[in-house]
Amino acid sequence: MPELPEVETTVRGLARFLEGKRLVRVRMNRPDMRRPFPPGLVQMLTGARVTGLGRRAKFGLIHTDRGQTLVFHLGMSGRWRIDPATDDRHDHLVIETEEHRFALCDPRRFGWVDLVPTESLDAWPSFAGMGPEPLGDGLTVAHLHTVLKGRKQAIKLLLLDQRIVAGLGNIYVCEALFRARIDPRKAGGSVSRAALERLVPAIREVLEQSIADGGSTLRDYARPDGELGYFATRFDVYGREGEPCRRDDDGTIRRVAQGGRSTWFCPRCQR
Ligand SMILES: [Zn+2]
Repeated sequence: MPELPEVETTVRGLARFLEGKRLVRVRMNRPDMRRPFPPGLVQMLTGARVTGLGRRAKFGLIHTDRGQTLVFHLGMSGRWRIDPATDDRHDHLVIETEEHRFALCDPRRFGWVDLVPTESLDAWPSFAGMGPEPLGDGLTVAHLHTVLKGRKQAIKLLLLDQRIVAGLGNIYVCEALFRARIDPRKAGGSVSRAALERLVPAIREVLEQSIADGGSTLRDYARPDGELGYFATRFDVYGREGEPCRRDDDGTIRRVAQGGRSTWFCPRCQR
């Protein structure tokens, strides 16, 4: 499932080919993905010039000179294929510039797209009320201290709440809590200021490292049949149940269920 680093990598990969380019052909191969394609999508995009790309949480943004932004979510299995050598029956939306073809391929169809006026992106339902970007200036110790104050819910679950921090998924919350040596089961309100001072840089580091890993994979995307969206990265706790803690503290990584999802952590060094 694409998390923030995969989306960021995808956006950077697309930007390389799309920025400043005019879309000459747009085609939908079915009427919907997880949601119906927005009305007028083909008409709006055809002939539009891409003025820039961006990301908000796990959404990719393709801005156009028509004041409209194509917002995409990769769902569980979505990816953009650049100049695919063959058609795939899961290519649901295909956009073309004079030079390249981009297919939004999503076998499970949990992904979706929307068209949003660029100037009112902040008010778009999925973005309204969203917390700060984890890689932006808004994520600070002071912010976390304020929003976590008095909260009884586990810190792990609170960090997955998009109103607290935008775009953090299960993997990166587990990894960041490990780096910050915080027990994921601890009540949000009782995480000390000192621990929050470790947590903020830990969140940035795990994401940046993963984006860097994706960036190194990205070089391969220059090849004509390149695909954007997935890459392997090295995790410290995620998926490592029963394995030794990388801190060599004799701890063994444990998996517990929180909010219906798995959490991995080291009970020895995460307090
Ligand atoms: Zn440990």
